[in-house]
Amino acid sequence: MDTQKLQALLKGQSKNIVIVTHKNPDGDAMGSSLGLYHILKNAGHNVHVITPNDYPSFLKWMPGEKDVWRYEWTKSRSHKTIMGADMIFCLDFNDISRIEALGAEVTASKAIKVLIDHHLTPVVDVDYTYSDDNMIATAEMIYHFAQKMDMLEFLDKDSATCIYTGILTDSGEFAFPKTSAVTHYVVSELMKKGVDNYAVYQHIYMSFAQSRLLLLGKSLSNMHIFSEQAAVCMTLTQEELDAAGFKKGDTEGFVNYGLTIKNINVSCIFIENKSEGIIKVSLRSKGNFSVNEMSRQFFNGAGHINAAGGQLPTTDMQYAVSRFKEAVEYYKDAILASNEQK
Ligand code: 5GP
Ligand code: MN
Repeated sequence: MDTQKLQALLKGQSKNIVIVTHKNPDGDAMGSSLGLYHILKNAGHNVHVITPNDYPSFLKWMPGEKDVWRYEWTKSRSHKTIMGADMIFCLDFNDISRIEALGAEVTASKAIKVLIDHHLTPVVDVDYTYSDDNMIATAEMIYHFAQKMDMLEFLDKDSATCIYTGILTDSGEFAFPKTSAVTHYVVSELMKKGVDNYAVYQHIYMSFAQSRLLLLGKSLSNMHIFSEQAAVCMTLTQEELDAAGFKKGDTEGFVNYGLTIKNINVSCIFIENKSEGIIKVSLRSKGNFSVNEMSRQFFNGAGHINAAGGQLPTTDMQYAVSRFKEAVEYYKDAILASNEQK
C-alpha cells in the first residue's frame, strides 16, 4: 500500500483502529502508542491501545493511559476488538514474537496493518511499513508519520506529551548519538503544543519506589569489572529482588550506570526470573561496538547497536557471568577500539 492510499484511509470515514506495542512496554512503546492514539481519536476514529502485559507505574500518568487494555487481562474483549478492527498499528517492535500471544491475534485479523518502528531489519507481515533505524525513538516517528499523513492538525497537548515522553526516555534524555537536529525540532514543535517538560521529568525520573534505590545499590555492589576488556556486568538474583520488594520497572536503566565509568565500553546486567527459569540480559555499549551482535551470538537476543537484550535459559548466575566473560574476551579488540575519542 502506498502513502497516498494510507492517507486517504486515515482521512476518510471513521475506522476501528487497534494499536499494539511490545511486551514490557517502556516509555517509547507507551509514548508512541498513546501519541498516535490521541491523534487518531482527534481525527474521528475509534481507537484502542492494547499492550501484551502491564507496564511500570512511572508511566501510569500519561494522558489516555487509563484506556489502555493489557491483553493478558482482557483476552476476550481484545480478541473481539482485534478481529473487528479495520486497521492495526504495530509500534516499536520489529518481530511479531515481541508481542507474544497477542501476535497470533494480530496475524489472524483481516485488518490493514501498519508498522512504525526504529529497530533494525523489521520482519513483520504488514501492508505498510515505516521503518527507520536512524530514528532515536518510535515516538519521534509518530510526529513524522502524522506529518506524512497530513494530520498534524490533530496533534494536541495530550498527544504531544506522550510523544515527548517517548523521545525523552529512548534518547537517554537527549544524550544518545541518534538524537538529531530533527529530534530537537520535533521537540520544539511538541513544546509549542504545551508539553510541560518539568512535569514529565518529575513523573518519569523523580517518582521512584524505595525498592528501586535498594536494588540499584545491590546491583552496583555486585558489579564485576573486566578492565582488560573494557566491560562490566552487574547481577540481581531473584532472592535479592524479593528481599528489596522488587516491582516492575524498578531495574529500568540500571545497565547504563556501568557505562559511566571511564574507559568502560560495554555494560551488562543479568536479572534472574525464577518463575520463567531464565536470566534476562540487558546490554549497552559506547561507540560503534554492536551489542546487538553480541546478544545474537551469546545471549539469544538482539536489539540495536548500543542497546540490546536477550536471555539465558538458566537461573545459574555464576554461569551467566562466565558467559559474559567469554563474550567480552571474544570481542575484546572490537570493544577496546569502540568509542575511541577522535
Ligand atoms: P532492554 O535492555 O532495555 O531490555 O532492551 C534493549 C533493546 O534490546 C530493546 O529495545 C529491544 O530492541 C532489544 N531486546 C531486549 N530484549 C530482547 C530479547 O529478549 N530479544 C530480542 N530479540 N531483543 C531484545
Ligand atoms: Mn523504542
